[in-house]
Amino acid sequence: MSKLDVYMFPALSDNYCYLIHDANAGVTGVIDTPDIPAIEKALEKTGWSLTHILNTHHHADHAGGNLELKEKTGCTIVGSAKDAARIPGIDIKVTEGDAYEFGGHKAQILDVSGHTIGHIAYWFSDDGVAFVGDALFTLGCGRMFEGTPDQMWGSLQKLMALPDDTTVYCAHEYTAANAKFALSVEPHNEALIERAKEIDKLRSQNIPTVPTTIGEEKATNPFLRPASADLQATIGLTGAPLVDVFAETRRLKDHF
Ligand code: ZN
Ligand code: FE
Repeated sequence: MSKLDVYMFPALSDNYCYLIHDANAGVTGVIDTPDIPAIEKALEKTGWSLTHILNTHHHADHAGGNLELKEKTGCTIVGSAKDAARIPGIDIKVTEGDAYEFGGHKAQILDVSGHTIGHIAYWFSDDGVAFVGDALFTLGCGRMFEGTPDQMWGSLQKLMALPDDTTVYCAHEYTAANAKFALSVEPHNEALIERAKEIDKLRSQNIPTVPTTIGEEKATNPFLRPASADLQATIGLTGAPLVDVFAETRRLKDHF
């Protein structure tokens, strides 16, 4: 086993997609399949041959390219057992608590339902990286299409429990808009104010704000901060249960 290489590239209008590769094991996976031309270009650029698709959830900008890529490459598709009916071409069904082996690298499967039911994250615990799809974004989280606030807050707490230095690869560049919202609900968070400035600088030069880390998100992402007195006061829920603060923060973002 050698190190887990990660090659990040943009796809569609605002997705990020990732190739993961272990040279010794000779395996290459793609995290989700938003955009076949972009994936093929990345494979050409790296010189890697696709062996696996690791899906986070069923949305078309994540699993839409599954069948065509499988047909072209004969790759193996890994996805959520809970959502197997909606993951095209699924071969290996994984569930929370599984440690899926990818070229000798252990991917711990976390159920992070909320954006969709059956959304999973792949946490490569020994490599210190997590692929979280649309469950968590830099300064944001996925819209709650299918789950309940309880479910989604439970999912985010699982991600918060990962080591602070875990590198978090999410599936979209939504950070500039997320930063504006974050400042509106937690205006006195110094770490957030500083980070928002940094983000403005990066985005003005078209530099990605992904990956992030669990530690940075815990310090600045309002969806991980329902315990913040500033956030609670700003949205009028001082002392409320954390799940209610999370739910109201998510609702406010939907209408921001
Ligand atoms: Zn999605
Ligand atoms: Fe998405």
